[in-house]
Amino acid sequence: MSDRHILTAVAWPYANGPRHIGHVSGFGVPSDVFSRYQRMAGNKVLMVSGTDEHGTPITVAADAEGVSPQEIADRNNRIIVGDLTGLGLSYDLFTRTTTANHAAVSQEIFLGLLKNGYVFPQTTLGAISPSTGRTLPDRYIEGTCPICGYDGARGDQCDNCGNQLDPVDLVNPVSKINGETPKFVESEHWFLDLPAFAKALGDWLGTRRSWRPNVLNFSVNLLEDLKPRSYTRDIDWGIRIPLPDWQDRDDKRIYVWFDAVVGYLSASIEWARRSGDPEAWRQWWQSPDADAYYFMGKDNIVFHAEIWPAQLLGYNGAGDKGGTPGSYGALNLPTEVVSSEFLTMEGKKFSSSRRVVIYVRDFLERYDADALRYFIAVAGPENQDTDFTWSEFRRRNNDELVAGWGNLVNRSISMAAKNVGAVPQPGDLTDADRDLLATTSGAFGTVGELLGRNRQKAAVNEAMRVVGEANKYLSDQAPWKLKEDPARRDSVLFTALQAIKDCNGLLSPFLPHAAQQVHELLGGEGTWSVAPRIEEVTDLDDGRPYPVITGDYGTGQAVWASVPITPGTPLQAPKPVFTKLDESIVEEELTRFTEGQP
Ligand SMILES: [Zn+2]
Repeated sequence: MSDRHILTAVAWPYANGPRHIGHVSGFGVPSDVFSRYQRMAGNKVLMVSGTDEHGTPITVAADAEGVSPQEIADRNNRIIVGDLTGLGLSYDLFTRTTTANHAAVSQEIFLGLLKNGYVFPQTTLGAISPSTGRTLPDRYIEGTCPICGYDGARGDQCDNCGNQLDPVDLVNPVSKINGETPKFVESEHWFLDLPAFAKALGDWLGTRRSWRPNVLNFSVNLLEDLKPRSYTRDIDWGIRIPLPDWQDRDDKRIYVWFDAVVGYLSASIEWARRSGDPEAWRQWWQSPDADAYYFMGKDNIVFHAEIWPAQLLGYNGAGDKGGTPGSYGALNLPTEVVSSEFLTMEGKKFSSSRRVVIYVRDFLERYDADALRYFIAVAGPENQDTDFTWSEFRRRNNDELVAGWGNLVNRSISMAAKNVGAVPQPGDLTDADRDLLATTSGAFGTVGELLGRNRQKAAVNEAMRVVGEANKYLSDQAPWKLKEDPARRDSVLFTALQAIKDCNGLLSPFLPHAAQQVHELLGGEGTWSVAPRIEEVTDLDDGRPYPVITGDYGTGQAVWASVPITPGTPLQAPKPVFTKLDESIVEEELTRFTEGQP
């Protein structure tokens, strides 16, 4: 047991619509599996995120509906909060970027960078629409990527090669709104001096040996072409630039990405302020022994392995130009950037606009959250792009959850409930009994080691291999044939129930809802896996109401160790933990998908 401080920094879902299962397979479920494991292992986890609510897509959606950007953000924030809670994602605080606290923290980081000389003003070319004269948002300019030649690159980023762009860099730029060619006019902006961090970023990445190799290689390659990046944009929706002559301007704001990554810090500070100890965040951000793990899909690596570390280094005064930390003091860099690859859907890339999509909400209306969590863990895009198919989802659910783990739980507890009515009192254990219990209790070491390194697919496979060992034990010992030898039958059932208790611990980070049910089926009382809850709060500074996700995760009994079961604990005939899916669901879902219905 240890008690490290671990920050779980989860990518901020963008509030321009509900999130689909591809999103939550990248940032959501892996970050929750990690946090639940670390809490069980005795570490002090702070898991934070929120909705990312600034930027041009939200303003475009607001224009289209004739409402304010805040209304769009309010609506989607509430939907996303509901969906992530339904999946059981155990945020200590899931907030949003339109809080007064977030604006103040983002402005403090900007001012710290300015004080140390890492942001500087520069006149640049900004795009406007020739027909309306209005600023044309970066994401609504498309053209050919000047780096890789991809012809669908956006004004701010190429999704093919992952490089950040400026609209003026695009070859043959076109407005996605009306197809016209944008006009570029002079515009003054603040720039982050990324080349001043080349050495510091290189030194830092040089110490990050434990990262997934594809993430580390991608991050190191980014250093070869560091250019100053615009910290501000021509837009009227976002965080104001905290300088005289800029503060009150209606056409200049901090670039959405540069405030979104500050959200990890501002959410930690908001959590501390709400906890009653406003300084508590410092234990996760300033202690040299604290660790910080950042979870995201691979399209966000640039912002977590380059931009945010550069902002932190500059704030700390640790780039080429030196300097001193801002008023918060020096802040820790990420320990690891844990990035997943992409999930495709029946062979196609997810796209809300092309309606190639399965929304989290629709999924949870028809299936159990743990069935999706299991699929993402065992067959998700941890190391490579992975395809979600309904037939494979059904097969994994039926063959592995229902026929593997669920069947072990069901037949063992049924037999003990029927014959004894309680956890049986064992007699002398045989070698076979002791071997099984050595396997199940020993797996906390092997599975925990994998989870600590975010090898989640290997971890869940090892846990399910142990479930298979327990199923084989039960078939070999065949307690149903031991009517004439109830003492031996009770020893076998006791051993099986202890193995189930162990396997339930091993699977708790992946299947928190099922883990609570199995805990109760074994006669356990109270809470094993704590579920997140939605709390209606008001902004700490301006009183606006909004929902947050939070939870009292320290009150759960789940621990990362073999917990002995107690003979005599009353048992009842169990209800099935998992739901078997009929063959017809595959065709139903494919029909919905083809017709573009939710
Ligand atoms: Zn490109």
